[in-house]
Amino acid sequence: MIDPTKFIRDNIRRLVPYSTARDEFKGGEISVWIDANENPYDNGLNRYPDPRHKAVKQAIGRLKGIAPEYIFVGGAGSDEAIDLTFRIFCEPGKDNAVAIAPSYGVYGVAAAINDVELRQVQLCDDFSLPVSRLLKATDRHTKLMLICSPNNPTANSFHKSDILKLVEDFEGIVVVDEAYVDFSDEGSLIGEIDRHPNLIVLQTFSKAWGLASLRVGMAFAVPAIAEVYGMVKYPYNVNGPTQKEILRQIGRDIHAQIDEIKSEREMLSTELATFPFVRKVFHSDANFLLVKVDKPDDLYDFLVAHGVIVRNRSRMIMCEGTLRITVGTPEENRLLLKLFKRYGDVGKQ
Ligand SMILES: *Cc1c(COP(=O)(O)O)cnc(C)c1O
Repeated sequence: MIDPTKFIRDNIRRLVPYSTARDEFKGGEISVWIDANENPYDNGLNRYPDPRHKAVKQAIGRLKGIAPEYIFVGGAGSDEAIDLTFRIFCEPGKDNAVAIAPSYGVYGVAAAINDVELRQVQLCDDFSLPVSRLLKATDRHTKLMLICSPNNPTANSFHKSDILKLVEDFEGIVVVDEAYVDFSDEGSLIGEIDRHPNLIVLQTFSKAWGLASLRVGMAFAVPAIAEVYGMVKYPYNVNGPTQKEILRQIGRDIHAQIDEIKSEREMLSTELATFPFVRKVFHSDANFLLVKVDKPDDLYDFLVAHGVIVRNRSRMIMCEGTLRITVGTPEENRLLLKLFKRYGDVGKQ
């Protein structure tokens, strides 16, 4: 089996992480906390939070069926995990990463910030995973392969067997971004991490959990890798109110809401396809639809003029002519359909 720690940068491997006052204290009955230069007057926020957010990791572990040692929690969303992944594995100016195109824009920005070349490999025409071309794009300096499934903005998931072929055949780390996995029937790859220690899975509370404002994202990896995220992160990267709130939120049952979003997605997909200026509604395993239309800029402007904003993806590779539309509430979706109808009627005059 591959030892994934061999892909860690040397300086990170040698790193002696910052040790906080709360790291060094090892239990006991304490009533006076004068170790961390905090303000002693209790206002609910005067104490530093748990730097390792143990309770949060335990709750996430129970939720996902994985031990806490496999979990990294980011307090700036999974975008934080993406940036840390480049910092842990890629030597600036020397190493590179391979990603699919089109995909999530943050990969390119995080690569550029870290001075890492991102090699983009176009999806197959049916948006499936170009397994052999991805492998061919690698060289001995390729440390990461980034796969988003379900993919943003194409909305489809890739076959698990295709992703696992990459994990098995690539001499490096494969990162699978599962931000939209809760809307998909394909399921998560978290259960494959033990069998494939070079696999890292990213998830987030921003989409299905409805907590985009809270900024909590996760990386799941074998303990030897998850531990390194814990060393490289900012010491108190998940703040106290966020730790408290996420523990409260994890108690909610989100199944009914996800089911509603999925059924609205299917309704929208069917209805949108009936308009003559809609050329294609792509299959979606996510909470958005990629829709190909005759005049994307025109339709985009019309929607904006009526107070509805969608994402114009028509200038993205392989997405020519498309708008990306998030599934809204039933009322919002009906308003969208009404505006599509009006747009069609205006065009006929
Ligand atoms: C929305 C999204 C995320 C989530 O990012 P957060 O920083 O956790 O809000 C991650 N990856 C992809 C592909 C996304 O579309």
